[in-house]
Parts: sequence; structure tokens; C-alpha cells
Amino acid sequence: MPLVPMRQVLDEAAKGGYGVGAFNVNNLEQIQAIMEAARETKSPVIIQASRGARKYAHDRFLYHLMIAATEIYPEIPVVLHLDHGNSVETCKSAIEMGFTSVMMDGSLMPDGKTPSTFEYNVKVTREVVEMAHAKGVTVEGEIGCLGGIEDGHGAGLDGLSHLTDPDQAEEFVKLTGVDALAVAIGTSHGAYKFTKKPTGETLRMDRLIEIHKRIPNTHLVMHGSSSVPKELQDIVNQYGGKLKPTWGVPIEEIQLGIRNGVRKINVDTDNRLAITGAIRKVFMEHPEEFDPRAYLKPAREAMKKVVMERMIAFGQAGHAGDYEPIPLSVMAERYAAAAV
Ligand SMILES: [Zn+2]
Repeated sequence: MPLVPMRQVLDEAAKGGYGVGAFNVNNLEQIQAIMEAARETKSPVIIQASRGARKYAHDRFLYHLMIAATEIYPEIPVVLHLDHGNSVETCKSAIEMGFTSVMMDGSLMPDGKTPSTFEYNVKVTREVVEMAHAKGVTVEGEIGCLGGIEDGHGAGLDGLSHLTDPDQAEEFVKLTGVDALAVAIGTSHGAYKFTKKPTGETLRMDRLIEIHKRIPNTHLVMHGSSSVPKELQDIVNQYGGKLKPTWGVPIEEIQLGIRNGVRKINVDTDNRLAITGAIRKVFMEHPEEFDPRAYLKPAREAMKKVVMERMIAFGQAGHAGDYEPIPLSVMAERYAAAAV
């Protein structure tokens, strides 16, 4: 099965009333962990690479690892998505490299730090939509600014200062034609999202529900949506780590989102914590070990377990075989027909 356009996976998720986790990868073990979790839970899956990941691993490695995943797991629909593209050029290179979905994050300037204007955001996103849809590739946009910084990307703001405005979201979708929209509702990238369990004031699910009412046919995306469970923090700290106490987005809030138009949920931090905890445990308990497999295997297992839990919680489990994936060329024809 070739890599699948994200639009199809999200359309199917909307039909089925579930969400799909989008998990970040940088290396072989993370891809294996996600694919094993997908097989075991029979889940369609979105695997995403940030600019940092593309730089770390190199596009060709990532692409061929993903092709290997589709060969080894032919029963699983897999999307390869670019996370936080900072410019038209970055999105273009990802499309040329074989990504089946790209995010044009025009909420920030190309430096990935400075909040942009609405006009700038519309202009670059529109450009990416035209280029991507001609090839059947899906586009995610962002309006409003998420909190935090990850991989050098982000304005470093708190999550609440640039919330998505529902009027602007509606206008943005009309002007750009994006397939999916990332909304800022108080979440942040990284491990330190909330200083205590989020309330309706710090995590604005009311805002998300309002946005969904305005653009019911646009798939909403929740970024920075790791739950940062205490158990994962504890394992890291128990084996010599130094994480400060922190709170993520509770699973039940994500599920509320899924009932209100959220189809893609970005999770990275939870997997990072699981990997780091497992590796630290081996290092502390078996200091005589020096075969990387001795700690990468438990790390991969730990990440697989977290991904499986998320797949079940988001509702994507059991849906891998629901539909026949369509190639990018067919998707391109659909976009062309819809534009007439
Ligand atoms: Zn993000």
C-alpha cells in the first residue's frame, strides 16, 4: 500500500467519529514503535516529521523508512506529514520528497518565531494549497499561535495570548481552502504545558467548540496534545532524570475535542518521555550494558505502549481496514473537480 493522502484518513475519521494520532518521528525505532502499535490495534496512522527531524535524519532516510513501513505493514494506511512547514519552499521540498501531507504554518514568519499577519498567513497558505492540491497532497494550516517552543519553532508565548479567533478561522478557511486547521486553544509544545491540571480557563475547549460550529467541514487539529502523564515523568525522575512537575492535556479533554471536530491529535512529548525513561532505567540497572539494542529495544517497547494507549483513546483503533486507500493522483482529480 503506498503512503496515503491525509485528507482521506481524516475524512474517514470524520465519518467514523474518531480522531487520529499524529506521532513525530526522527529515527527507525520510533517508526517501528508506531507501526507495531498500529498493527496491534488495527489503526490507520499519521507519522509526521518536523523540520528538525528532517535535518536530524535526512529526508531520504525518513522517506525510505516510511516506504519500508508500508511494505512491512501493508494492512495499515499510513500518512507521511510535514509538521510546521515554515515556508512555501519547505512545503515544496517535502512534497517533492514524497510527503502526502504538509503543514504550512503561516501563523509565524519563516523564522519560525515571529507572529505574522493574517494577510501573510493567507497568502503563503493559499500558495501551498494550490501547489499541494495539484499533486493530491493534503494541507494543514494554522491560525492563532500555539504556546512554547519545540525544535526551535514557536514564538515562546504562553498558550493563551494568541488564541484562534473564530471569525478569522472561518475567513481563513474560505480564503485558503485548507483541508485541516490547527487551532490555538491554550496548548503549548514541549513538556511544560500547564503548571497545574488545566481548567476551562487555561485550556479553552469552549473556543474549539465555537470554531467547529463555524467550520464544520474542516478537520481540526490539536497541537501540543501530549498528556504528559505523571507515571512517565516519574520513571524518568526515578532513574536519575530531573523533570520539573508539569501537566499536559488530559485524555478526556482530547476526547471532548474529538466529539467536536478534532480529527488529528499531535503527540510527541509523551513518546519522548517513554523512550527516555526506558533508556534511563537500563542505564541505571545495568551499567555494564553497552549494546545499544539493550536499551533501544525497551525504549521502542515503551513508546509502542504509549502509542497503543493513545490509538485506543482517540478511537482510531480497529479502523485500519475500513477503506481502500486512494492514490495521490485520484485525490488530485478530486480537488480539481471540486474547484470547478
Ligand atoms: Zn505543533
